[in-house]
This record gives sequence, C-alpha cells and structure tokens, in this order.
Amino acid sequence: MRAARLHGARDVRIEDVPAPKPGPGEALVRVRAVCICPSDWRMYVDGHAGGVAPDRPIIQGHEFAGEIVAFGPGVEPSRPGLDVSARVAVEPSWPCGTCDLCQAGRGNICRNVRFPSFPPVDGALAEYIACPISALAVMPDILSFEEGALAEPLGVSMHAVRLADPQPGHTICILGAGVIGMGCLVLSQARRAGEITMVEPVAARQTLPVHRGVHQVAASYLELVQRGYEADIVLECSGDSAALDQAVRLARPGGRIVVVGIPRDERITFDMSIARRRELTVVFSRRSHETIVEAVDLLASRRVDFAELPMRRYALEDAEDALIATGRAGEALRAVVLP
Ligand SMILES: [Zn+2]
Ligand SMILES: [Zn+2]
Repeated sequence: MRAARLHGARDVRIEDVPAPKPGPGEALVRVRAVCICPSDWRMYVDGHAGGVAPDRPIIQGHEFAGEIVAFGPGVEPSRPGLDVSARVAVEPSWPCGTCDLCQAGRGNICRNVRFPSFPPVDGALAEYIACPISALAVMPDILSFEEGALAEPLGVSMHAVRLADPQPGHTICILGAGVIGMGCLVLSQARRAGEITMVEPVAARQTLPVHRGVHQVAASYLELVQRGYEADIVLECSGDSAALDQAVRLARPGGRIVVVGIPRDERITFDMSIARRRELTVVFSRRSHETIVEAVDLLASRRVDFAELPMRRYALEDAEDALIATGRAGEALRAVVLP
C-alpha cells in the first residue's frame, strides 16, 4: 500500500509498504480521511514527541475515518452495523484493558496504551490501518469521512469538558479557537454554562466563535486581565507555552483550570503565588476516553456541526504539504489528507 512515512525531522517519504494484517479483535480499515493534528506537525518538525523519538520510520495520523474492508481471525462483529463496508470513525487511544488503570475505568491513561502514529503502531496516513474493533464507531451516511475524522478531536474536547465539569451559570474562558477550543465551546454551551469568553490572537480564527454565539473573543489574555475579568473555569486549548501562566491569571479564586493543549516546551513556568493564593485546581487532560460513539452521535445530530469548519484538502502524495500547512495558523482549521 502507499503510505507517508516520517523518517526524521522534516523528512516525509511516500513509500510502498506492506498493508497491515488485522489481528484477533481487529478490523482492517481503508482510510478515507485523515485530519492533521498540531501534534503531528510538532512531531514532523522536531522528529520527536515529548523527547521520545520513534526508533524506525513511522506512519503518522491519528484523526481518521474510513471503511471496514476485513476482520481479523475469529472476530465476531459485536455491534449492529459493524460489518464489512461499514463507514467508521476511530478512537486512536487503544488501552490494554487489563492494567490497574484500565480496571479502574481510566483507559486513556493506561500503562500500556497503544497510539497509532507512535511505535509500535503505525498511524493512518496510508491506504489501510488495522484497528481494534472496540475503537470503532459506525458513522451514519449523513456524515462525511472528514467529519468522521473530526470525531477524535471532538472526543478530546468532550473529555476535557467532563473534567472541567461546568455547572449552569459558570463563566468559562477558553484559550485557543482551534478545533479543540471550538469543541469545548459548543460542549460548554450544551451544558448551559454562563458567559463564555475565548482568547485567540489569530484574526482569521476570531469570527467562527462569534458565529457560534461566544460572548466575547479577546486577542490577548492581557486585555481581559486589565479589565478585571476572571472565570470559574479556564480551558487551555492553545498549546502555547505561556498559556498555563495566562490561565492562572484568568481564573477566579477557587477556580478550575483544565490543560488540554500540549506545549512544545517540556518545562513551562507559571505564577505560583497567584495559583496558591487563589487555591486553584489544575487538571491535566490526556487525549480522549471512550468518547468516539458519543462524538459521532453529536456530529450526526448536528447539535455539534463541524461540517463548516474551514478545511484544506490534500492527496496522500502531498501529506508533507498538509503537515507544513498545519504549522501556519491561518485560514484553515485543519488540513485533511484523503488517501
Ligand atoms: Zn489530535
Ligand atoms: Zn491498561
């Protein structure tokens, strides 16, 4: 099959590699759409993720949807509609199911979690990928494969908003109006949160939240702080290395911060004195957790409508261009590769 493999920093090659064989408990999926995550871009630019570099060329891509073409040996499709030719979205965090954390119902922080796009598991920038059937959600026909690929980042927002647990009337500040921030906006609205503010410095990204009914969009956190603004809950979705410090300044005493964005720097600083005096709760959020079915349902219900998010499309041959475009915060919210 054709695949885009990362050989090192800024080195993506389109190659012929053997198609994966689905194992027990797995389905073989013909990939139809892969959205490029900012974390893919960072891995592409740096050649490593969080200081860990792949020990072999790796296929990237973890936000994807496609069609089931085969099942592994002995797999009995366990859910209605989960058959050959079913259109599926995929939750790319694959827990072991047996460790203490999986047993405690926290599979997203499984000790042995597998994640496509990091060894030993190749990602989806290829024609085929083998996936555990437990990670699949059947998509109705009204959803495009591109929308299906966005079910993963929506699931990340869903997990973050669950951790934030906004109550009716809570004021919320969301840092970053990318896909994750937009997901947090609509999910917070659905929970009848109070006034929601977004901070987004990129002008091209400031209009969509306004269309979605956000109360205000600020170009910088500073203008909010100078006005004496404070929020019950701050959701950090920008991945900026300065954002945790900004979140601390934006949270009201007793407030809660949920950190979703992944900063490029492995060590960051924040104002400890403010955080302590305000007795803030800071929660770090890891990927998504059993959210894919609900995310697909939400997208299909159009209560969360991602069909109008600005996307730019690329062929598999141009996967490197899609990665490069993801590093330019601009008009498109996601580059999507159609293998
Ligand atoms: Zn992602
Ligand atoms: Zn586990």
